[in-house]
Amino acid sequence: MSERIEILGVKVDAVTMAQAVERVENLISEKKSSLVATANAEMLLNATHDTELKKILNAADLVVPDGAGTVWAARHLGKHMPERVAGADLVQELMKIAPARDIKFFLFGAAPGIADKAKLKAETLYPGIKIVGTRNGYFKPEDEPEIISQIKNSRADILLAALGVPKQEKWLFKYKDEIQIPVSIGVGGTFDVMAGVVKRAPLWMQKARLEWLFRAMLQPSRAGRLLALPKFVWKVHKQKIGTRNW
Ligand code: UDP
Repeated sequence: MSERIEILGVKVDAVTMAQAVERVENLISEKKSSLVATANAEMLLNATHDTELKKILNAADLVVPDGAGTVWAARHLGKHMPERVAGADLVQELMKIAPARDIKFFLFGAAPGIADKAKLKAETLYPGIKIVGTRNGYFKPEDEPEIISQIKNSRADILLAALGVPKQEKWLFKYKDEIQIPVSIGVGGTFDVMAGVVKRAPLWMQKARLEWLFRAMLQPSRAGRLLALPKFVWKVHKQKIGTRNW
């Protein structure tokens, strides 16, 4: 078991990418409808005022440190956080080992057609991979029973849900026991990136921990979300100096 580091009330696992992949593999064999979350700064900040999200994250079986902000926060609090485990990268690592381990995926979420494009991309990148179902992420409550049975009947090992935060976490938590998929992971904009709709930052920017800046430049509508970062830094600092009510 890895150490869980509490950041703004949410326990984040101090794992490397290799350890995260191994944990997911173990969760698959346990077959108990596990939840994996990828916690970036924005999600951790949201959890400070969304108690349902906070409860779900703390009940998750694995919470990986997604993003430079989360790694920075743990280290600022004096804890050891080995590296960033971005959700989009975790998905690629799992897909890489999938053909050899016979791990089957269901892709749920994003606009119509996007999950299918992501499926094709995965099949090109990882020959032999089994993507056993796709479903777009725009639906009405009355469509849910059909979606649930589609996912359940697919008998996938991993459900990737890309509905955005916190919708995906809440949806998965609500229905995980019904869908009976061994591991469910909320993956945000990952299908858009795989389908080529949204570009990933160049490697040098990822290495310089500037992926967030790249995303804001490309999608100015998201720029407002950057305001979350200084707020996050401030709250983590307050946690460090022991002020209550951060
Ligand atoms: N999305 C969806 N259903 C919804 C709302 C959003 O499938 O009702 C999808 C959206 O098309 C996009 C993803 O969820 O593919 C959210 O991407 P974003 O990068 O905003 O993720 P976040 O930053 O919230 O993790």
